[in-house]
Amino acid sequence: MIQLPQPLKSLILNFSKLNGVGERTALRYVLQILQWDKSDQLEFAKNLSALKDVRNCQKCGVLSDLDCCPICADQTRVDHGVICVVEGISDLIAIEKSGQFSGTYHILGGVLNPLAGIGPDKLRVKELIERIRDKHVQELVLAINPSVEGEATCSYLKDLLPDFVSMKRIGFGVPIGGNLEFLDPLTIMKAFENKSNL
Ligand SMILES: [Zn+2]
Repeated sequence: MIQLPQPLKSLILNFSKLNGVGERTALRYVLQILQWDKSDQLEFAKNLSALKDVRNCQKCGVLSDLDCCPICADQTRVDHGVICVVEGISDLIAIEKSGQFSGTYHILGGVLNPLAGIGPDKLRVKELIERIRDKHVQELVLAINPSVEGEATCSYLKDLLPDFVSMKRIGFGVPIGGNLEFLDPLTIMKAFENKSNL
């Protein structure tokens, strides 16, 4: 194989780190980028290097370039006193798209799964308790995806969290094994309308 210039070799290695991308695909990507305008290449490089400033919102845990994300910084949303608990960022994005929720979020980072070694310490449970204590949160809406682990996680939170917080779970419309991420906004809207007490 011919000796490629070092920048190309390095980029091929970078792309090969992506799931499902082998060395040949990585080479194709790099060759495509070589064809781009210089300005597009520079923008790509700039965007990549800006990733170092992306962090998790200190409150809800969503990815943000600020310590406090725009949703948590929006006082009208905080004043609603409702936190919607989701497993991950893609669930939050799906719910935001549905426009059905006007409070703030809390990203749990998954669900309890003892077999996979995911206990409460691996989830952002402690942070949730702190938020409930610090702010005057009256209601939690659990938008946890329906699965055995999801059920167990909801029961765990119900037992753990103080009684003064009302807890609801989003309802019908989300099939067992379904994932909010893949549902259309209307189905999510229905699920929020049909939330029930835990
Ligand atoms: Zn936030």
